[in-house]
Formats: sequence, structure tokens, C-alpha cells
Amino acid sequence: MHLYDTLTRKVEEFRPLNSDHVTMYTCGPTVYDYTHIGHLKKYVGDDLLRRTLEADGFMMQHVMNITDVGHLVSDADEGDDKIERMAREKNMMPEELARFFEDYFFKSTTALNVERPKIVARATEHVKEQVKLIEKLFENGFAYQTDQAIYFDVSKFPTYTKLSGQKLEEKEAGAREDVIVDSQKRHPYDFALWFFAVGRFARHILRWPSPWGEGFPGWHIECSAMSMLYLGDTLDIHTGGIDHIPVHHTNEIAQSEGATGRRFVRFWVHHDFLLVDGEKMSKSKKNFYTIDDITKRGFDPLALRYLFLTSHYRDKLNFTWESLQAAQNALNNLREEVRNWDMGDKVDDGFWQKFLEAANNDLGTPQALAFMWEMIKSCLPSNLKAATLLQMDKILGLELDKCVAQKLQIPEEVSKLVKEREEARGERDFTRSDELRKEIEKLGFEIEDTSSGPRVKKS
Ligand code: AMP
Ligand code: ZN
Repeated sequence: MHLYDTLTRKVEEFRPLNSDHVTMYTCGPTVYDYTHIGHLKKYVGDDLLRRTLEADGFMMQHVMNITDVGHLVSDADEGDDKIERMAREKNMMPEELARFFEDYFFKSTTALNVERPKIVARATEHVKEQVKLIEKLFENGFAYQTDQAIYFDVSKFPTYTKLSGQKLEEKEAGAREDVIVDSQKRHPYDFALWFFAVGRFARHILRWPSPWGEGFPGWHIECSAMSMLYLGDTLDIHTGGIDHIPVHHTNEIAQSEGATGRRFVRFWVHHDFLLVDGEKMSKSKKNFYTIDDITKRGFDPLALRYLFLTSHYRDKLNFTWESLQAAQNALNNLREEVRNWDMGDKVDDGFWQKFLEAANNDLGTPQALAFMWEMIKSCLPSNLKAATLLQMDKILGLELDKCVAQKLQIPEEVSKLVKEREEARGERDFTRSDELRKEIEKLGFEIEDTSSGPRVKKS
């Protein structure tokens, strides 16, 4: 695998620290609202990376967090936690709201055939680990306390902006507009590790004891604490959206490396955005579609997955209904091809290697798809094509095995009726042939007459 690393800004050969397994941490959702298809571009991208590494023979140790506390609303006049604010609006308890949107997240990713990470870690269930990490940061001289919060002192970490390449002055300008108004803060760009349940946070429902006082953790500390708990001090891969580069991941590096003195992440992988009309699809702009919007319009969620495969993860993708329709058509064509093939047990190594190389070239899914179509259009025997395609589909994740299986699972009764219908047609008894078609339809199958004979499909 060759992979682009945001830190070095280069595509480099990827080798895990441990020769047979890869540690990968994915920044998960903040569960305060519906998952939209912009989020799904990122999670499908992570899924493709994981599946490609699995195809390369690695075991994956994959962890994802669920942010269910501590992520502040960024455009508020007053600091407020996104989950608590939404829970108040909806008259729900924060935990109840978080679980509802966590379920919606998994419903959405499952619809796109995204494999669930082996470990899914909720921030609220790992507060002890976060407190321990803050203690370590105090010990190492990186943390300080005010009446309102505990902060990370950025001036003590000289390489703070190494991931984004920003100048600290640029960050300072951004930080002035920050939500945390605290006159005791040493520098405007210092970020919070822990908030005390005082002042504007006195009404905060989710709260835990800590050696410094009752409160709740800041957003960034959860990812440092949980990734290192499950995967060790140094991770092979850490993923997120490009918006995480200048703040969330920058802060994660400072926290983790400040605590351990070791390199935190070996490869930083960032996915670019899904746009609508040239603008980032986002909850705040209210220009988003959910997986239910997709299915309500009659699309298969896997057509969306196909659409994501046609663009590179580091490119922006402008979403239109026309592009989704084109992806749906391509997926339908693909399924039709497969349905007519017998399953073989041998894979064509030439096409498979070309496909795998493309996937291993910084996740070149558009090229990999092109090789897949080249294979489909080739004059290889169909059973060889079927086996090769299903091997490719272990990475693509389009559930093409279900289409091949459908061909194999035509019930005896249906096959008999198809045969009888062919005989009736041979005798030009079209009334009988139509009756038989209806009987076949009642059993859930459709018949299409082609130049090479009848083709049976599931209706
Ligand atoms: P959030 O739940 O808002 O914290 O977002 C979860 C992840 O989805 C983050 O890594 C974001 O970068 C990513 N994300 C949010 N909006 C989009 C979008 N329009 N396109 C791609 N990724 C997005
Ligand atoms: Zn994170």
C-alpha cells in the first residue's frame, strides 16, 4: 500500500509497525443529529482503506469513537455542548438523544455496507481514561487550571501546528472567535481538556468527578485517550475529515505526544468533503440529505457507495441527483452482468493484480473500477469473471455475491415453469405462455426473453 500522509504531505509506502496487523483509529460521529451522506463519504472511504489492507493480508485492529459529550457548538455566543443543546431542544435526556443518533449512524453505515469497527468506544464510557491522561499532562507540565476549565498550554508544545502547517498567529486569529471566553486563559489558542460544571456549564447534565472538580471532558481528549487505550501509544493509521486537520487532530497530537513523548500516528489519512451546489454538505447549512432521503427517491444505498467509489477520497465530490442516477444505472448494469454468470472457483490473476495495485495506490478506486469494467467486458469465460469480480467486491463492498447467489437459487418449481413456458412458446401457444409467466411472477420471479433464451430475474 502507498498512502498519502497529511503530516509529511507525501504518498509513502505504508508498512505497519507490527508486520501482521494494522492499528487504525477512525474519528467517529458526534451523535447529536442525523448522519448525512457527507459523513458517509468519509466512512465509506475508511471502509475501503480497511478492506484493501485486509485484501493485502493484514489483520485490522480498527477502533472508532462515538462523541457523546464535550463537543461544543462552535458558532454559539455562549459555550454549549452540541448534545446537551439538542437534547434540551427536543426535551430528551442527553444519553437518550445520543443513543438515538448513534443508532441512526449505524443504520446509515450498514446500508452502505460499511463494516463496523471491531471496537466502538463511547466518550462517556471512558471518562476515567481521559482524566488519567489529563493527570499525565499536568505531570509533564502541559496542563493548567482556571476557574472554568483545564487547558493545554500550547506554548509548551513547539511543534503544535505541524499537521496543518499553519502559523500560530493564524490560529490565534481563529481562536479569538472561539466559544470559550475565559480571561484566565494563558493564550487564546490554548484548548480545553476539561470543563468544570460551573458558570454557563452549571446546568450541564452529563458530569463526572475529577481530582480538580466536577465537570466533563473536552472533545479532543477522548480520541487521544481511547485510541491509545485500545491501540497503544503509536497508531499506524488515524483517519478523519479534512476539517479535523487544523484543530481536532492538531490537538490530539499535542495531547498524546505531550503525555507519552512518543510519535502518536504514523499515517494521517484525511478525506475531502462531499459538496452540494459547490458548498460543503453540513448540518449547520441545512443542505444535507440522509440515507432515508436517498431511499425515498427510489435509490439503492449501494448506488451511493458506487458513486463514492468513482471519486478519489482526497478529492471533493459534488453531489447531484443526476450523478446518483448514473451510479445507480452502472450498479444495475453490473448486477445484470453477474446474474448471467455461473460461479467459478478460479480468479484471473492478471486482472485481480491490476485492480489490487490500483486500490493500493493511495486508494485509487476510480482506476480500480475501470479495471473491473475492463475485466467484465473482456472475453474471459464467465465463471472466471464471476470469481474475479467477487474477489474484487471484497474491497468494493457492493454485495455482488447476492446477485450471483440469486442465479444459483432459482427454485426448482420456477425452473420447471420456465421450461414449460419455453415449450408453450415453441408450440406458439402464447395464451399458455402468458399464464405461465404470471405463475412465475407470483413466485417472485420475472422472465425476460433474450436472443440467447429466457433470462430469469428476481422481481
Ligand atoms: P461530525 O459528526 O460533525 O463530527 O462529523 C463526523 C465526520 O464526518 C468528520 O470527520 C467530518 O469531517 C466528516 N464530515 C462532515 N461533513 C462532511 C462532508 N460534507 N463531506 C465529507 N465528510 C464530512
Ligand atoms: Zn477524534
